[in-house]
Amino acid sequence: MSLAPYASDAARSRGRRHAEPPAPTRNDFQRDRDRIVHSTAFRRLVYKTQVFLNHEGDLFRTRLTHSIEVAQLARSIARPLALNEDLVEAIALAHDLGHTPFGHAGQDALHACMAGHGGFEHNFQSLRVVDALEERYPDFDGLNLCFETREGILKHCSRANADWLEAREPGGVGRRFLERTQPSLEAQLCNLADEIAYNAHDIDDGVRSGLITLEQVAEVPLFGRFQREALREHPRLQGRRLLYEAIRRMLSALVYDVIDTTRGRIAAAAPADADQARRSPPLVAFGEEAREQAAQLKAFLLRNLYRHPRVMETTGQAQQVVRELFAYYVQRPGEMQAGFAARSDTHRAVADYIAGMTDRYALREHERLTGRRLLAVPA
Ligand code: MG
Repeated sequence: MSLAPYASDAARSRGRRHAEPPAPTRNDFQRDRDRIVHSTAFRRLVYKTQVFLNHEGDLFRTRLTHSIEVAQLARSIARPLALNEDLVEAIALAHDLGHTPFGHAGQDALHACMAGHGGFEHNFQSLRVVDALEERYPDFDGLNLCFETREGILKHCSRANADWLEAREPGGVGRRFLERTQPSLEAQLCNLADEIAYNAHDIDDGVRSGLITLEQVAEVPLFGRFQREALREHPRLQGRRLLYEAIRRMLSALVYDVIDTTRGRIAAAAPADADQARRSPPLVAFGEEAREQAAQLKAFLLRNLYRHPRVMETTGQAQQVVRELFAYYVQRPGEMQAGFAARSDTHRAVADYIAGMTDRYALREHERLTGRRLLAVPA
């Protein structure tokens, strides 16, 4: 793999927090990816909600399949730009490790529970998972990933959390939020790949669920254009195949748009190396039209899918599960697993414990502790 001068290079990594001897056959970013794939948090993603509760149907995306799709898109964009594919794969597979059960509903509920105790941010939690919560190595907590992988995982960060990080790791992954610089191009790329992935797969899952119709989505300019194009070439196409053909064309167009736009921006800014790219304005980007149309699609999904009454109903119940679990464990920390029960920072320990749960584990725990069943527990 030949890398552009502004790409992240594993051989010039800013390294790990705990020094380790190099692996004989893998570079440091490949090694990070492998650590992520073998982590407990990664396996739990299969039972965590993306939009639809994990057990509502076998074919909906979960956090795991979403993360794999993000990695696929990120690699497809990284390769023609000569960015580091190993690094984008590691970041993409880890980007959602800190997500709570029940998707954004769970995260909002946990954030509200943690008001006055530092709050809860899922990006920051993803970093906590790889820095502190995974227990796999004899000499340190977490996975001891490279700076560049950790930098990519921490997509957003509040000022308070950035200060907290900076105090413990001066000049580390919190610094850019204080200096308002960009992360590596690979990290920027993963953000866009995430957005492309969920915009596309949420149309698929939304139509599959019956909560939105193909006719409705066809009115969204970005999708409608590709559906009309597909129908011009295949006039008898309908149903699922029409949906997939339109999504496939939309995905390709967005990927090529990012590649072309980014090439132009990199040529104009001409960063000499990865650090200069960090000090430039964001270089990995959609073109203007694609950005506006992607935003329209996102707004459509918010209005018609994420805030659909049926989704909102389960969302409300899921939030109640999280709130009641939180209140219960704060009163009786001994009900948590030993490592969490023993911690002196009770509220944060409870947040870490709940955040790590899969949807179905949270539902079973809730039923065990309260004797009530708010949502059906999958078999
Ligand atoms: Mg994501």
